[in-house]
Amino acid sequence: MAAIVISGKELAKSVYADLKQRTAAVQKGAGRAPCLAVVLVGENPASKVYVSSKAKRAHKLGIDTVDLSLPASTSNEELQAKLRELSADGSVDGILLQLPLPDGLDEFSALLCIAPEKDVDGLHPYNQGLLLRGADTFAPCTPKGCIELVKSARAALGQNSSLSGLHAVVLGRSILVGKPAAALLLAENCTVTQCHSRTKDLAEVCRGADILVAAVGRPNFVRGDWVKPGSIVIDVGINRLDDGSLAGDVCYDEAQSTAAAITPVPGGVGPMTIAMLMANTVRAAEVAVR
Ligand code: NAP
Repeated sequence: MAAIVISGKELAKSVYADLKQRTAAVQKGAGRAPCLAVVLVGENPASKVYVSSKAKRAHKLGIDTVDLSLPASTSNEELQAKLRELSADGSVDGILLQLPLPDGLDEFSALLCIAPEKDVDGLHPYNQGLLLRGADTFAPCTPKGCIELVKSARAALGQNSSLSGLHAVVLGRSILVGKPAAALLLAENCTVTQCHSRTKDLAEVCRGADILVAAVGRPNFVRGDWVKPGSIVIDVGINRLDDGSLAGDVCYDEAQSTAAAITPVPGGVGPMTIAMLMANTVRAAEVAVR
C-alpha cells in the first residue's frame, strides 16, 4: 500500500490559524504586534528568497518585521554590534540571523550576540544546552517542524501521539538539523540512533527505524529497501538537481511503497520550518509583554 503523504503545507495552515489568534492577543494586550528582526548579510540568492518568504509570512500573521540587509563586506565587529543593538531593543521580540554567512564572518561569535530570549532560531548555545537538558526552550525550527510532522503522521495513521519507545534514526549530525532533531526525539522518549558519514552499515541501521529523519544533503540518498515497512519517513533534504528541480534526501518513489507515511519535497519539512519560526517569534513576544 502507498504511504500517506504528510503535507507540511497543510499542517502549517493549522499552526498559522492558532498563531493569528495569539498575535492578535499580543497586539490587544500590549498595544503592539510581535516583532521579528531578520538579518541578512551579503547577496546569497537562496538566502534572499528564504528571508523574503519568512518576512511575507510574518506580515500575513500580523507580525512586524525589521529587515536588516548588510553588505557582504560587513566585518565581524559590525555584525556583532548590530546583533547586540537588536538584542537590547525592547521593540524587537525575535532575531533571525540568516545562515550561512559570507566567507570571513564568524557564525558562532555572531550567534553569541543574540539575546537567548530572542533566539527564535534556537541556535544560541544557551538554548541548545537547555534543549539537551530536555527543557522547554526555543528549539531550532527545522527539527521542531519534524517532530510536528511525525505527530501529524501518527494521527493520520490512527496512532496515538506518544513516540515513547519508538526507534528513531536520524541521518546527519549538523548543529542546525541532525543534533537538535536527535535531542527532540530523545525528549519524546524515543530510542535514538544518530548517523553520519562514518556510520557503518547505514542501510541496515535505517531498516530498524520506526521514525527515519533524513538530513544529509544528498539527493535520493535513502533507498526504498532502507525503509522499514510501516515506518514514518521525514525527508529534510532540499537538493537542487541539474535540471533545476528539487529532490529530497529520500528516493521518494521507492520509499513511498514501504513507509506508512512520508513527507514530500517540496511541501513537507520546508513549510513547517517557517511555521516554527513564526511560532517561536510569537512565543518570544508573549513572554516579552507578559
Ligand atoms: P550539513 O550541515 O551538510 O550536514 C549533513 C550531515 O549529513 C552531516 O552530519 C554529514 O555527516 C551527514 N552525511 C553526509 N554524507 C553522508 C553519508 N554519505 N552518509 C551518512 N551521513 C552523511 O547539512 P544540514 O544543514 O544538516 O542539511 C541537511 C539537508 O537538509 C540539506 O539538504 C539542506 O538543504 C536541508 N535543509 C532543509 C531545511 C528545510 O527547511 N527543509 C532546513 C535546513 C536544511 P558528517 O557530520 O560526518 O560530515
